[in-house]
Amino acid sequence: MSTSLLDYAGYACPVEGLGPGRRCIIWVRGCHRHCPGCVAPEMWETGEALSIEPLARELLPRLAGVDGLTISGGEPFNQTAALCALIDRLREELDVEVLVYTGFLLEELRAGGGDAAALLDRLDILIDGPFMEGEPNTLQWRGSDNQRVHLLSPRARRHAGQENLPMREPRPLQVQMVTPVSFRVIGIPRRGDVAAYRQAMKVLREKVQE
Ligand code: SF4
Repeated sequence: MSTSLLDYAGYACPVEGLGPGRRCIIWVRGCHRHCPGCVAPEMWETGEALSIEPLARELLPRLAGVDGLTISGGEPFNQTAALCALIDRLREELDVEVLVYTGFLLEELRAGGGDAAALLDRLDILIDGPFMEGEPNTLQWRGSDNQRVHLLSPRARRHAGQENLPMREPRPLQVQMVTPVSFRVIGIPRRGDVAAYRQAMKVLREKVQE
């Protein structure tokens, strides 16, 4: 894939609860892990990759008003070259703090070198490890407590001490309508709530089709 093309499902801005402060978030597509209970199974399949330049132009004015950019998925480390290009493009104009969620462990990414190392070099914060449905979910910014928050850059050190704070209650959650009968939950819902949302949307879809 060209470094100027990124396979992403969309973005939202501003959002809370997915890293420090208020942020923009991009969801990239494609994930091989298929973790049971994944909150975003619609991101498992890849789709059409789009040029990063229009995306950067849309994001830049929004990023100017928030605390940073979060990249989630999907698996961001499946698209390392394109994400490096996007981050470089954004930083031509803005000193943006970048946080990435990944199902890989930091140690695996460091051992792999190559493009993964290049992306790591550009990140301020990494939240690593697969989502594990059987693990508790009591810590902020992550879906299961096995996931770890790594402050990688000097810029991120201002967040030292916040890595393992408890989940904010009530949880900051937003709903983004994708189509008139489908939506995306933004944030970290309580276990079981996603199934309830999906059931509610199924009922709504059936009513629309009646
Ligand atoms: S790594 Fe993330 S996106 Fe991929 S299946 Fe697991 S929870 Fe879902």
